[in-house]
Amino acid sequence: MAGIYFHIPFCRKACTYCDFHFSTSAKGREALLDAMEMELLNRSRELGDAPVSTIYFGGGTPSLLEPARIAALLQQCSDLFRVQRNAEVTLEANPDDITAERLEQWKAMGITRLSLGTQSFREDRLKWMGRAHNAEQALKSIALIARAGFASWTIDLIYGLPQMTLPEWDEQLTIALDHGMPHLSAYCLTVEPKTALAHQVNKSIVSMPGDADQSAQFDRLMERMEVAGLEHYEISNFGLPGHHSRHNSSYWEGVPYLGIGPSAHSFDGSQRRWNVANNARYVQGVAEGARFWDEELLTPAQRTNERLLTGLRTSKGVDLARLEVDVIGHQRRAVERWTATGHLIHADGRLVLTKAGRHFADRIASDLFVNDDDR
Ligand code: SF4
Repeated sequence: MAGIYFHIPFCRKACTYCDFHFSTSAKGREALLDAMEMELLNRSRELGDAPVSTIYFGGGTPSLLEPARIAALLQQCSDLFRVQRNAEVTLEANPDDITAERLEQWKAMGITRLSLGTQSFREDRLKWMGRAHNAEQALKSIALIARAGFASWTIDLIYGLPQMTLPEWDEQLTIALDHGMPHLSAYCLTVEPKTALAHQVNKSIVSMPGDADQSAQFDRLMERMEVAGLEHYEISNFGLPGHHSRHNSSYWEGVPYLGIGPSAHSFDGSQRRWNVANNARYVQGVAEGARFWDEELLTPAQRTNERLLTGLRTSKGVDLARLEVDVIGHQRRAVERWTATGHLIHADGRLVLTKAGRHFADRIASDLFVNDDDR
């Protein structure tokens, strides 16, 4: 099995907290999409004969593309790869792009799953984030998607905002659940270097909430989703049975994928590759047949650490038999320490985080990291 990811690096506005690769200028958009079609063609042998079970349009804002360009990339996938008949095909969309007509067009071309970048249903929060949509569009778009008949859909919400209270967070979750949301990706706001938010925090224009507030909101999130029957299958992801993201689950399980477009990452099981995060250099590199990416062959310890980092974030945890380095042998003390405090379970050949442990997933994973001398 394999996946294909398309990075569409265009947005209407720059959100204050975002450190993804995108441009707010539409200049050169068609040339860049042509280059992505060319990259896909040039790399069509990289997945071998593996059936493609998931395709994902992320970004950036894929929903601002003309539907014909998305359809063309999908057609190319069908022509070049063994795309499974029941493949999951996800499109990230922003609320300001959602109309009943657009939803029909996306469905007709084979998009099976929509991921809506809602982030908040409140006008003041959306303004503060610098989002291109307003609260009315956030509410209207979720109602339209709920009625549109996609196989699945999900929304993104952000918590841990400055001065956010538990009642405010509860209200956000209630609105989403009242619309029958089958899947939620909920992210705690983080301050990424070189973003407008980082500048505001450094200048003391904005003060971020403390860990206790963010933890309380994460606990409330877990409680609310459990009551609503959405399984907590990854730290930031909750879904009804049958609505878990197959594409993201494949990443966490180490399934190979091809990443097309500027800044897109690819993985073939042992080697990582990442394209240049610059639209002009990407287009030029593809046109001239020059190298526009970097790559790295992962060592057994690096592959083990990646599995720890991603696997511990999932409800299935880490299958110790699939690790190339003996983590229990080399990190016994750290495993015992985290199990003794009730954050980690070591049983049946797996390491799984408890609810308490989910607050410290990255820290626990890095405590268990091995190095190549450990082999
Ligand atoms: S729409 Fe998404 S990708 Fe674009 S700036 Fe905002 S958060 Fe970043």
